Amino acid sequence: MLKNFKGIEKTVFGRGSFSQLETIVEERRGENDGFMLYLVDNYFKGKELEKKVPAKDVDVVQFIDVDPEEPTTSQVDSIRDKVKASKGTPAAVVGIGGGSILDLTKALSLMFTNDGSSVKYQGLNLIKKPGVYHIGVPTISGTGAEVSMTAVLTGPEKKLGLKCEWTVFNQVVLDPELIGSVPRDKWFYTGMDTYIHCIESRDGALNNAFSTAFGEQALALCREVYLGPSSGQSAENDEKLMVASLMGGLSLTYSEVGIVHAMSYGLSKILGTKHCYANCVVFQHLGDYYQEGVKEFDEMLHKHKITLPKNWSKDWDEKTLTAMAQVAIKLEHMWNHAVGPDWKSKVTIDTVKDLFRRL
Ligand code: NAD
Ligand code: ZN
Repeated sequence: MLKNFKGIEKTVFGRGSFSQLETIVEERRGENDGFMLYLVDNYFKGKELEKKVPAKDVDVVQFIDVDPEEPTTSQVDSIRDKVKASKGTPAAVVGIGGGSILDLTKALSLMFTNDGSSVKYQGLNLIKKPGVYHIGVPTISGTGAEVSMTAVLTGPEKKLGLKCEWTVFNQVVLDPELIGSVPRDKWFYTGMDTYIHCIESRDGALNNAFSTAFGEQALALCREVYLGPSSGQSAENDEKLMVASLMGGLSLTYSEVGIVHAMSYGLSKILGTKHCYANCVVFQHLGDYYQEGVKEFDEMLHKHKITLPKNWSKDWDEKTLTAMAQVAIKLEHMWNHAVGPDWKSKVTIDTVKDLFRRL
């Protein structure tokens, strides 16, 4: 079976497009209980953007600190339960922030219409009913969460997305002005998620003309942003990075990620390491699997004076290594893509533990 994937319904792109959000949300005002639920990255509290959020008195604006941990099932359940008990079901859920806020928004949209805990929907096509209208406004670029069919959540047992066609945003507002304030280190790690998506999507068995077309374009944009003569953070590069993130997401949607993401999930689940940072830490050590990609990545690290930890694994005991390797090896689709359909004859739990020992 070939993937039959759903894309975003509506997209607005361009500097200043955030000002169109009001018109967009007001078109939904008549739906459900007539209020909007805004989820906004806590970073924007007290900043200019807070004043521009087009919330009315009936709306709920919730600021969320995304730094302590990546989105969890209990966080989604608790926001849903509180909002439902006090106000009912929103006309739309609007997320303004990075991948963490975008995933929370997608998950909450689904959990207003699907009963019980989000834990029971972690996986593919387990959601029973379409969610409420949801709008994504990215403020940091790279994860492709604005376009993907999944809302990644960490649950009691696994880090796994609520994945189905209703997860995809009905509308995204891509305003490159919003990513201008991202600090350099986060700009690098999150942007590199796109770069790694494209490399992993390309270097594997499921690569195809569709994923290559988006991946090549996203890679070209990443090279301009991180390596070219005008590389670095600038208004022009913010536009390019925002488009690269979207295209990188489309590339991997129609192909697959690989070993970097499998290992990164292990690090996130067991040590709580953030997704994009974990990818960078892993990727530097996988030159034998992704030769060209790692070489170019090293140039980008050097150019932007980013240092990643080395010899991290020396502090990990056998139990930790085994736990991380178990999380990683269970992501069979990623190994299948990266190593090939006979991957099980080449990759064992000990192989994966050895890969973690490189870190
Ligand atoms: P994030 O949302 O975790 O935010 C990273 C940091 O950047 C935070 O400190 C945040 O406050 C800050 N920030 C965001 N916008 C800013 C701005 N404009 N100015 C200053 N600071 C700003 O970032 P992320 O890296 O985009 O997302 C990571 C999350 O995305 C993880 O939870 C990961 O699991 C998820 N993810 C999802 C998918 C998907 O397809 N759904 C894909 C990859 C990753
Ligand atoms: Zn990723």
